[in-house]
Amino acid sequence: MLDAYLRNGELFLREEGVKEINEEAVKRVYLWPVDEMAGGIGVSSEEEAIAILRRFGFELSGKTKELLPSLIPDRKGTCSLCGESGKVVLNKAFIFPFERKVDSIVNEKNRLTFCMEHAFKLYSAMAYLYVVPTKEGTLKFFFDGPERELRRFKNAFKRSFWLDRFSVEMKTKNGKKSYSLRVSLTLSKYHPNEAFFAVLHDFVKHLRNRGLLQDAVESGRMVRAYLVYGSGQFYRERVIEGTTLERLMDFLRRVQDSGRETKWGRRHLEPRDSAVYTFYESLEVPRNKKDRSKNFLEREEFIRKLLAGRFDFVLLNGVFMERIKAKLPLPPYYYMWAHSFLEVFGGDVVDVKAFERINGLGYALGKAMKGTNLERYQWELFRARGFEEFLNKLVELQAKLGMSLDLRPIYENEREWKVVKAVLLNGMLNALYGSGKEVSE
Ligand SMILES: [Zn+2]
Repeated sequence: MLDAYLRNGELFLREEGVKEINEEAVKRVYLWPVDEMAGGIGVSSEEEAIAILRRFGFELSGKTKELLPSLIPDRKGTCSLCGESGKVVLNKAFIFPFERKVDSIVNEKNRLTFCMEHAFKLYSAMAYLYVVPTKEGTLKFFFDGPERELRRFKNAFKRSFWLDRFSVEMKTKNGKKSYSLRVSLTLSKYHPNEAFFAVLHDFVKHLRNRGLLQDAVESGRMVRAYLVYGSGQFYRERVIEGTTLERLMDFLRRVQDSGRETKWGRRHLEPRDSAVYTFYESLEVPRNKKDRSKNFLEREEFIRKLLAGRFDFVLLNGVFMERIKAKLPLPPYYYMWAHSFLEVFGGDVVDVKAFERINGLGYALGKAMKGTNLERYQWELFRARGFEEFLNKLVELQAKLGMSLDLRPIYENEREWKVVKAVLLNGMLNALYGSGKEVSE
């Protein structure tokens, strides 16, 4: 991650025309990366810079009053990046914020140290670091790739989109300045992976409205995203490869296309928002009135997997069943989400064809069950604890309905019966409770 982060600093310095890194240059430009990260609000003092860094979730010690001295090498050592011996600085949260400090407890010698050039390049990388505050911690992310693609993607993302959505607001109270971050996104975000997905949805929409999607997808293929969240020694990091990023953007494009103008509560949703928004916002499991973020733990997990290229039918089925128990509506556009995802990613356990067949089977059963005393079978199937039991219940239900359906897709996937069960039940639930409009049999 060190090298990936470094490339952002190099790109920033090149774009700013800083060619040589020496003490004089460091003193002259060291506030620039902070200002760039903050969206160009005009950071003019070290004090302001430190306040902004804190607001952006950099874990500065309470004693930090200055940045500059920490950027000028003052001790002998070896640079952790280039391996050269000479004068170095000890890493600080504002130089490379993602050092696992747990190492330093074990052995002080394991701490990262950098020569002036590398310390300053790493420090400058914050210019292209993006921060989204959420209810449960802060998401930080940045991109990496070959310079040409990274620059193109960065321009599309930052100049064209991010600066539109992101702002740092400054307030002055009793002569003291305080800052707050605002990221305005269409989708709600209680957790870090949700936040990245929310960014991606608006980014894709933004690009399409300007006819820039194709270009961004092409450079995005070569670019990977680094997501970091959590804090201190317990942060988590994940990398989304360019090919996955490209597919996620294509997936969002497809779902966006399937929506139509909708009124949702008091909100008016434009076509490109409605299919993404209404499904996503309906993944809430009512649980906690005081802290609503707890209601979205399943959604965070579902989205976390989605960002890794997996569509978790079983998890989703759990959410659907909980919602039915609580007499809440099923998330609309389920079929579109699942179908588009499998079309783009190909699927692992079930592919598009298997999904269509099993979903269709569940849907047909649900239609026949509707309004009869056999509706309870959704629970019997849900509770089935093994393939045998599941299959027996299914055969039983079929007989009671006087139907004869092709159960081959079930037999064929015995080993993955839990996934098959989830897909079948989701189709059934959509026939029983869904609006029925977007489900194709
Ligand atoms: Zn070095």
